[in-house]
Amino acid sequence: MRAHEGTTGWRPTVLILGGTAEASRLASLVSGRFGERLRVVTSLAGRTREPAPIAGEVRHGGFGGAAGLAAYLRDEAVDLLVDATHPFAAIMSRHARLAAETAAVPRLTLSRSGWQRRSEDRWIEVDSAAAAAAVLPTLGRRVWLTFGDGLEVFQGLSEHWFLVRRVERPREPLPLPDHELILARGPFEEEAELALIRRHAIEVVVSKASGGTATAAKLAAARRAGVPVVMIRRPAPEPGPRVESPDEAVAWIANMLGEEEVRDGGSSEA
Ligand code: NAP
Repeated sequence: MRAHEGTTGWRPTVLILGGTAEASRLASLVSGRFGERLRVVTSLAGRTREPAPIAGEVRHGGFGGAAGLAAYLRDEAVDLLVDATHPFAAIMSRHARLAAETAAVPRLTLSRSGWQRRSEDRWIEVDSAAAAAAVLPTLGRRVWLTFGDGLEVFQGLSEHWFLVRRVERPREPLPLPDHELILARGPFEEEAELALIRRHAIEVVVSKASGGTATAAKLAAARRAGVPVVMIRRPAPEPGPRVESPDEAVAWIANMLGEEEVRDGGSSEA
């Protein structure tokens, strides 16, 4: 690994593909543990106008496909790549795998665990947002869409009313016939989610199977309200090593760098 070549004053670089709470947490943990001995860069797609602060360096915007990312890995002398993008960011994850292979950079996927279905849950599992749109007419007309991208597939449902929650006001009007937009940033509480369902007389919830704790309360609220949830399954993950928690990703980084050398700070590469 380039980090172990022993160039005086040079420090290894970790690139985190971010846009998730787990990626930000990892940047914070790694910065705290390794400090100035490690360069930590988090990459954001640039879709959020005001992202929450992230420890270390932050870069914004796409790389220009897998080839662009491979060039970035080489140009920035990246030693380790952690793909901590959202489980539904399938294009970026594929590019990460291809680019890491091309540039011979070790890659880890950090992907939060999925939600477990309970016996009282009324989930209808589908493979895409388009499939979710197709089943909605059988389930109800007042729909809570719990994600904000790829809404075009719901455009043709002129008999439906949609509640959409976003972190930021979208740049373009939502492509939905009849809807209300609310702006809020998680984590969300179960009681508040239940109140939201009742206030808007929600008959069906549509959710991506994102997993994680920050947005799980809506599922508990739907369960209590007896409301069905159309659950869009995750895309197939990329092959390769993967962990579910930022702590495990820190351990992988430490192991790849040779923990003793970096911790002691005595080696020339640290
Ligand atoms: P995507 O469809 O997999 O990727 C589309 C393109 O966006 C990629 O080809 C890449 O452009 C760029 N991109 C994506 N993530 C990037 C990153 N971390 N840094 C730099 N460029 C990135 O991605 P997506 O589903 O639209 O997600 C975009 C971002 O939002 C990701 O950071 C993801 O973690 C976050 N996010 C996604 C969801 C979701 O439901 N999809 C939910 C919450 C957060 P180039 O080809 O030009 O490199």
